[in-house]
Amino acid sequence: MMAEQKQGQVFEIAIVGRVIWNLHSLNNEGTIGNVTEPRTVVLFDGTKTDGVSGEMMKHIHAFWTWLRAKENNLPLCSACQSFQPQRADAASRDLPQRGQEASAMAQVLQRCVLCDLHGFLVQRPPIHRQSTVEFGWIVGVPEKVHRDLHIHARHAMGAQGTVQEESASEEEVASKEVGQIQPEVTAQMLYHRPTRSGIYAFVTLFQAWRIGLNEVNYEYALNDEGERKKRYELALTAYEWTFKRPDGAMTTTRLPHIEGAEGLVLVAKTAVPVPLLSPLRDDYRQQLKNLAQKQGVEVDEFNDLVGLTEILSKLRELNPFKLGATSQ
Ligand SMILES: [Zn+2]
Repeated sequence: MMAEQKQGQVFEIAIVGRVIWNLHSLNNEGTIGNVTEPRTVVLFDGTKTDGVSGEMMKHIHAFWTWLRAKENNLPLCSACQSFQPQRADAASRDLPQRGQEASAMAQVLQRCVLCDLHGFLVQRPPIHRQSTVEFGWIVGVPEKVHRDLHIHARHAMGAQGTVQEESASEEEVASKEVGQIQPEVTAQMLYHRPTRSGIYAFVTLFQAWRIGLNEVNYEYALNDEGERKKRYELALTAYEWTFKRPDGAMTTTRLPHIEGAEGLVLVAKTAVPVPLLSPLRDDYRQQLKNLAQKQGVEVDEFNDLVGLTEILSKLRELNPFKLGATSQ
């Protein structure tokens, strides 16, 4: 009976799969001098591969959450109004102080959808919220990633002051004298930029049941289920936009060529965790379907971005799970 009453509720959602992203540079180690280094990650067996960090993906999701919240007039705290990365910590002046952590937490959750969904760390009073949205590394499937470091030359041309740009891959540059490109060059700036293409495995988890849940006293700070549903819909919309528009680093000149997406959406409608398995495994779909079935977790499969969008649209019609809701 309990399960019946909770029909149409979503405890948590995992999206796992693979994306094909070409010619991007969404995330880098940093720039030393004029060389920008792409992210490299090492797998358990020592294999080095390309990656985009979970931090970057979470940032993209948070940004789309913010945009949508702003546009739809959903509550944002004074820090999140202007998308400050500290979130609640930069808007903590009027919070109840030490000894009243539970009410401080409730206040933060009530007044801000971004603090609620994406978490924060407030120093005074010391309260911490873990994000309801979690991302692993986006990791290049070994043997299915390519990286190139391109050298770009920017020239200022004599009296006209015109600027010309040239680019070549490292190998091309090695075979010619860079200094001989233009005799009238008065200034030249060389810089190295990575370009990467590949099939990437991703894992992400959304704990819808924790929306509005005050984890100091484990009571819901939001009693209006309509408000919780709005936040749930918001997170799902931000997911849709994150996959359609992964706006990371260097998109001014390395806007990714998105070629495809495939994977599974796992949905737990009762209080059980969804199983996770890396799409680095070629058999991840079948394995996950088996695991999910044994746990009573629903699985939807997608083979392109349209399919993923349709699954997310359907999920938006449901409601976030509320812990202990039927026991009262
Ligand atoms: Zn906030």
